[in-house]
Amino acid sequence: MKVLVLGAGVIGAATAFFLARAGAETVLVERTEPACAASGKAGGFLALDWCDGLARAALSRRSFALHAELAREAGGAVGFRPVETLLVATRGEGAPAPWLGAGFRVLERLGEPTTTALVDPARLTRWLVDRALGAGVRLVIGTPEQLEPAGSGWRLHLAGATLDAEAVVLALGPWTETARRWVPLPPVRSLLGHSLRFELEEPLPPTVLFVRLDPARHGLDELEIYPRADGSVVVAGLSRPARPPADPTAVRPDPGAAELLAAAARAVLPALARARRVEPRACLRPVSADGTPHLGPLPGHPGLWLATGHGPWGILEGPATGELLADLVLGRAPKLDPRPFDPARPTARI
Ligand SMILES: Cc1cc2nc3c(=O)[nH]c(=O)nc-3n(C[C@H](O)[C@H](O)[C@H](O)COP(=O)(O)OP(=O)(O)OC[C@H]3O[C@@H](n4cnc5c(N)ncnc54)[C@H](O)[C@@H]3O)c2cc1C
Repeated sequence: MKVLVLGAGVIGAATAFFLARAGAETVLVERTEPACAASGKAGGFLALDWCDGLARAALSRRSFALHAELAREAGGAVGFRPVETLLVATRGEGAPAPWLGAGFRVLERLGEPTTTALVDPARLTRWLVDRALGAGVRLVIGTPEQLEPAGSGWRLHLAGATLDAEAVVLALGPWTETARRWVPLPPVRSLLGHSLRFELEEPLPPTVLFVRLDPARHGLDELEIYPRADGSVVVAGLSRPARPPADPTAVRPDPGAAELLAAAARAVLPALARARRVEPRACLRPVSADGTPHLGPLPGHPGLWLATGHGPWGILEGPATGELLADLVLGRAPKLDPRPFDPARPTARI
């Protein structure tokens, strides 16, 4: 079967990877470059059971296991690292630690190395694309202008080219809304999130911190600190609703956001003050109306599939999403129940 996958974030990359692995003739179409958006700039935190009790629980659990498998296959190329995960705050019962800033205490252990991990999202996404290309997938860089039914399949028009396929997977993340001119879709909103990447001389221990802050003192109420396997540290926080710019590479931090985040992060972890370089970044996460990703067929449009709306868990759920979409598109028995993710479910508001 010939399949087009639109968007080379982690969702499109994983879908192309699993389609290629199943032997499908696949073309991955990306407007700019793989991992240019949130899938290259996210924290990369993975948790086995933090979505338990939600409709997406089985997807998260399956994907946590797949991350470990892919990391073994990648042999260090994706920056996979099991971690301790702690809740830190200035208020509440807790124990001080010598490496925390004045007033901060450890309140709770949220995860241990068997249940929480980190991956480098940019390296993971690029590795998935590279492996897919190695298995015969074609990567086309271009901006789709029109998608229309053609025979029993679909035709995609790009500047100077057309691509025909039996199936098309829309994996456009926050840019899903741009496909609304071709087909009715459930709403996908965007949240802008800020992050900083610190380069340190001395790597930090493998402990992720979820930090509750005093907004009156720090100007924000929470942040997360991710010490990566390569020695860099990513600090994420400060989210707000936003509209995606036409060009995915034009997403920029709000004025003053990086300074606020940096000051708060250094108050929590004084070691960050010794960074030799700090890179401010911003990216958009795609959010569905009911918080559950849309993974499945678009009703009334045979051969058209949607894969988006992962919100804060797209890196975690990328591998199992790609596996699920490949199985569904190719008509194979899926490894998990796809019904909670049906884009036509009542709460998706198509
Ligand atoms: C600050 C921040 C921190 C995060 N931390 C984590 C975390 O720790 N763990 C976790 O699991 N998740 C995290 N996330 C969420 C995660 O990053 C997203 O859910 C995930 O990256 C979404 O992937 P995607 O492939 O759907 O979208 P994207 O990564 O946005 O990819 C969409 C792709 O489509 C391309 N595109 C756009 N328009 C077109 C077009 N017309 N044709 C072709 N291609 C097009 C874009 O260029 C882009 O490459 C975080 C998000 C943010 C914002």
